[in-house]
Amino acid sequence: MKIRLASTLQPDSIVDGEGIRTVIWTQGCPHHCPGCHNPGTHDFTLGSLVEVEEIKEQLTHLSGQDGITFSGGDPMYQPRACKEIAQYAKTLGLTVWCYTGDTFEEVLQNQDKRAFLNHIDVLVDGKFDLSQRSLDLQFKGSANQRIIDVPKSLKTGSIVLKKEYEAPKDYRNLYQKPDYLFI
Ligand code: SF4
Repeated sequence: MKIRLASTLQPDSIVDGEGIRTVIWTQGCPHHCPGCHNPGTHDFTLGSLVEVEEIKEQLTHLSGQDGITFSGGDPMYQPRACKEIAQYAKTLGLTVWCYTGDTFEEVLQNQDKRAFLNHIDVLVDGKFDLSQRSLDLQFKGSANQRIIDVPKSLKTGSIVLKKEYEAPKDYRNLYQKPDYLFI
């Protein structure tokens, strides 16, 4: 199985979810949100096709990462390949975040997307809404988007938000991060 990617894996991100994460930039998005930060990832024919096995192999050799984040593009439009990668990432002890322009409710309606969701820890859902954009939001671009605790939401049958990310960014803490040392 292959996955269409916009770029190579991007390790060491601290802006695409909790901790230090490797981002998987998928290619292809049908939403075309005005003001999208990444319009070059919309076309489903661009980017490059990569074997899922090759991505899994690359994950095996990562070090110092808390998890992986699917972004793009919209990963929910390649759900089978993403599911395989997410499932494998979990065996390596990595957490899985995913950004999508779909809503959580829409994801639940599609069998393949739902299967991928089973291997996601945190889903950031909904289209980017330029009128609700704010740079003070944590890990999302506009206020309508939700940072969802997926296992708890599936268990309870209603959406459970990651409350710790509802507060605006604390810029003082951002520059006092003693846990990690970059050299
Ligand atoms: S869902 Fe994301 S990648 Fe797709 S158009 Fe909207 S902001 Fe851009």
